[in-house]
Amino acid sequence: MSSRKSIIVHGGAGRGPTGPTGERQGVLDRAAAEGLRGRSAVDMVERAIRILEDHPIFDAGTGAVLTLDGGCELDACLMTHDGRVGAVAGLRRTRYPISVARAVMEKTDHHLLVGAGATRFARLMGHPDHDPRTPERLTAWRRLRDDLRRGRDGPDFRFWKRMARWQKAYGLFETVGACAIDERGRFVAATSTGGIWMKLPGRVGDTPIPGAGTCANPFGAISMTGHGEGVMRHCLGRHAVELMRRMSCQAALDATAKHALAHGVECGIIGVDRRGRLGRANTAKWMQVGKAGA
Ligand code: ASP
Repeated sequence: MSSRKSIIVHGGAGRGPTGPTGERQGVLDRAAAEGLRGRSAVDMVERAIRILEDHPIFDAGTGAVLTLDGGCELDACLMTHDGRVGAVAGLRRTRYPISVARAVMEKTDHHLLVGAGATRFARLMGHPDHDPRTPERLTAWRRLRDDLRRGRDGPDFRFWKRMARWQKAYGLFETVGACAIDERGRFVAATSTGGIWMKLPGRVGDTPIPGAGTCANPFGAISMTGHGEGVMRHCLGRHAVELMRRMSCQAALDATAKHALAHGVECGIIGVDRRGRLGRANTAKWMQVGKAGA
């Protein structure tokens, strides 16, 4: 089967961007254009995501948000239309988590590696150690920590309940994702994230869980952003691609957003179906995407 090569990327969703939307749009467009140059659908999403992982305004790779203890824990996943999956969670010192996820898919018999084992695997695959924390994120982390601590002392974990309330009010997700189809009709979904601000160390969200924030089947592929616990609880990714069995990508994403809204999940979703149609939908107020080849 031959099809028209195309790609769609997102850089998160929420109640509004923290920085200027123009710069953000420029990077998304550049990532989509760069992705389109990839030879296969897997190459396409990896190329696009690596650009977004390198850009510090997004919550992925360099510039990812920080955990309660001031570290970075990066998650990523890649899933193909023919059922291949690779994912990593809790990487603390890696520049390109999406490439490590790809290596899990292509070089192991597993689907998901976490924590110390994932780090060890990344090094074995030739990824040098890299601290993804930027000065801006560290400053924001100190401010948040001080706000949370005001008037109190004790171990950080005591503040978690207050933090969870704050996260709900904050409502900004800056995870990155890409869905692409190549000329041979192969399509792939990929997502990369630092998760949510001040998450408990060890928390894993929807991004690296196949069927939650990243999913593909023979009918379509999707990448999500939003509150990971909600996305995971309702298996929204799987929901969307299953709908593509009988409806277009856009109709499936609209129906998934409706389902998410009914369950109070703030999120955004992009996708591609087997006929190469791209789509996007969000229950969060705002989401920017970049497209190329469509
Ligand atoms: N879905 C991500 C998570 O919960 C966050 C995001 O989309 O920005 O880990």
